[in-house]
Amino acid sequence: MKCPFCGCEENKVIDSRPSKDGLSVRRRRECLKCGRRFTTYEYVEKTVIYVTKRDGKREEFNRGKLKQSIEIACRKRPISGEEIENMVNKIIREMFEIEGNEVKSVWLGERVMEELKAIDHVAYIRFASVYRNFKDIDQFMKEFETIKRKESEQK
Ligand SMILES: [Zn+2]
Repeated sequence: MKCPFCGCEENKVIDSRPSKDGLSVRRRRECLKCGRRFTTYEYVEKTVIYVTKRDGKREEFNRGKLKQSIEIACRKRPISGEEIENMVNKIIREMFEIEGNEVKSVWLGERVMEELKAIDHVAYIRFASVYRNFKDIDQFMKEFETIKRKESEQK
């Protein structure tokens, strides 16, 4: 970990805290040579989480996709971006703590439904009605894309 100011490799950590999503650690460091301070972000082991689908196929967990599917369900509902962000982070933290590095897509879908149910009934129903038919976030999103397109065509 080189000092960005003088290139010295020796420094001490003066503060260390996990990032909000729990996936990285933010460290304040002080260079032992020039005394200047800088911040580093270290990712926790770069753990890859795999999602196992119903058909047994595995794919890398995609944070963006999870977030997007929640956003779609929450469209035009009084739910802030921050609330969505918190839901996503909460689910990801649980994934690490409980499920290890492999989760079932079913588990993921159920968790999203639980979170939505607690926050907004309409968003929950939207997600649940489509999700239960498709059992898969990918399919869920495709279906919603179609609905969205139809809606905009009607305008
Ligand atoms: Zn330095």
